[in-house]
Amino acid sequence: MKVFAIYGFSKSGKTESIERIIYELKRRGYKVGAIKKSYHHDVEYDKKGKDTYRMEQSGADIVGGLSRSRAALFYNYEVKPLDFIKLFNTDYLVIEGRLDIAVPKILSAASKSELEELNDSLVFAITGKISESMEEYKGIPVINALKKTEDLVDLIENKVFPLLPQINCEECGFDCAGMAERILKGEKDIRDCVILQRNRVKIMVGKKPMYLAPFLENMLINIVRGFLSPLKGYEDGQELHIRIEE
Ligand code: SF4
Repeated sequence: MKVFAIYGFSKSGKTESIERIIYELKRRGYKVGAIKKSYHHDVEYDKKGKDTYRMEQSGADIVGGLSRSRAALFYNYEVKPLDFIKLFNTDYLVIEGRLDIAVPKILSAASKSELEELNDSLVFAITGKISESMEEYKGIPVINALKKTEDLVDLIENKVFPLLPQINCEECGFDCAGMAERILKGEKDIRDCVILQRNRVKIMVGKKPMYLAPFLENMLINIVRGFLSPLKGYEDGQELHIRIEE
């Protein structure tokens, strides 16, 4: 799953930009998830007196609402951002706000002073009201998400990569943010994450593990995913388990 964040001060044009981006990603056929980071203590879910509200008030740890066309789960305790993200199962996940995870970011700003205050090394695009008066800032493209949605989504398709493990093991020589920064600059590739590369394929022959050289491992992954991808039920980026019995 590819994850990116859009952040900026309120009234910078952030929410309208997110709406357009989601709309365009959907138009291109992607399954899209979205998270709103709330800075308030509580997230409101059902109206007072309604069933799910009463279930939550009774002390249920997780409350679910299920109808024919929609479903929702509410956690009645703090969920860590990464654990929450892992609940999503979409091609793209858009996070509104800043979570403490190393993902590519779009900065929404209304003025140059906001850019200066909020810019960080994982920003690959700038949008918001500032895009009325600027086309580039310190080498970062400034794109109006309302007028040039397709250009911005082209850039998202080009830049955003699958979520790094976020464990900051530094086996690649950097922490995850350092690696994400280098992937955005084109100096590294997601395959340079040692953890993602390790044990991508596990083969057991009877009870004995069988190890493949990296190029054979990649070849096998490409063959299996290529074979399964046109089939109904297949989802890119998901772990696969195949068991062949004699
Ligand atoms: S090897 Fe992967 S998980 Fe470890 S710090 Fe580098 S990018 Fe992060």
